Amino acid sequence: MGCPPNLVADGALYAWVVTSRSSSGDPTAEVTDLLQSLIRNECVNDGSVASGVETRSVDLLAGYLAGAGDHEIYEPQPGRQSLVAKIEGSDPDAPSLMLMGHTDVVPVNPDGWSRDPFAAEVVDGFVWGRGAVDMLTLTASQAVAFRHLADSGFRPRGTLIYFAVADEEALGTWGADWLLDHERDAVYADYVLTESGGFQIPSPAGPRLPVLVAEKGTFWTKIRVHGTPGHGSQPFRTDNALVTAAEVVRRIAEYRPQTQIHESWRHFVEGMQFEPEITAALLSTDDFAGALAELPLGIARHWHACTHTTFAPTVARGGTKTNVIPDQVDLEVDIRTLPGQRGADATAMLRDALGDLADAVDITSNDDPATSSPADTPLWDSLARTTAQLCEGSALVPSLMVGGTDNRFFRRAGAVGYGFGLFSKRLPYEDYSTMFHGNDERVDVDSLDMSTRLWDAVARDLLD
Ligand SMILES: [Zn+2]
Repeated sequence: MGCPPNLVADGALYAWVVTSRSSSGDPTAEVTDLLQSLIRNECVNDGSVASGVETRSVDLLAGYLAGAGDHEIYEPQPGRQSLVAKIEGSDPDAPSLMLMGHTDVVPVNPDGWSRDPFAAEVVDGFVWGRGAVDMLTLTASQAVAFRHLADSGFRPRGTLIYFAVADEEALGTWGADWLLDHERDAVYADYVLTESGGFQIPSPAGPRLPVLVAEKGTFWTKIRVHGTPGHGSQPFRTDNALVTAAEVVRRIAEYRPQTQIHESWRHFVEGMQFEPEITAALLSTDDFAGALAELPLGIARHWHACTHTTFAPTVARGGTKTNVIPDQVDLEVDIRTLPGQRGADATAMLRDALGDLADAVDITSNDDPATSSPADTPLWDSLARTTAQLCEGSALVPSLMVGGTDNRFFRRAGAVGYGFGLFSKRLPYEDYSTMFHGNDERVDVDSLDMSTRLWDAVARDLLD
């Protein structure tokens, strides 16, 4: 383990270790077992309403949490269940804390994996499987911490909520978004902790633990490219939509948006306390590209996304038959916007990328802007106190989530939402970021243990 837990420093912090009533009595074995079961449930969300079937994992978690707090289950579509468990606080005016973990995972192509993505094998202290990193480790460790807090007789001033939520991987339509719209009183909390953050980034001053206080917006865009149909045997001077679409894709891929040194990037870099010349390069629009070239690919990719509006052509549909010149091709582009950017900014950049083709195609976009929470909150202070004990020599740094999480719904509803967890040094930062939705997703058992301790400690620190 990267940071040996200081087990005896605060007896209250680990009261659950000795007061556990649950089956194994060993929280590490329990959280490993729960993670394995969540992986094996294969709650794969392909974006269709019938996929996910998170009911399987809600059944599992409801069984695991039986007798711990009050439970409600919500099912806005058949099979798309979410579970809310609460330990009611004694003071209705005290702030509440929600531990939120999604139960769905993204699809997988087993060909790229070294092991069965749904077998949840434990090899050399790592649990392998789709969802190990995104985000069943946290979903499982939050449940275990909640269970043991309830078992230990934890009666906080503020209410503690555990929320195992469906459909995070398809925009939260049948999960967090729906529940906040229809069952706000059941799921709203003043403070929300969900994925991801908390992986250790080495720095000269000791490990730095990113707290994801903000996340980029999505500006998912469809581009329809038109042409004129004709016979494939006579392509000379035809208006082939597929050929035009290829040029559209090429221009987007070659587009180089400007580096944006925005406030949350600046806070992250300053918090990392790199050598002064590295700090200067990472905060300079001129020197940033050169600094990226020196970094491992996983880190370079992440830091590029932190400082740029990104454009990724991801889907193309077109053509009907080998001997027909296509008259229509539909493209999809995953565009991610930075804090403070609006849809109009992203549209202007896309038009700039397309040049004279911008007026020849139809562009439709869905603007879901970036969100953020302040870093000077009681939740931040609580995370700082608890991680100082759990991970010696570490310090928190505010950071930007480059993907999307359910935090955005809660931030817009008025909550302070952070992405956090706690991971050991066995899970290097660059591996962590490439495993998201990638091949060979896996997490070490020490990280499961550290995350479980974190939720327990923060609930006690913040709510009591
Ligand atoms: Zn996730």
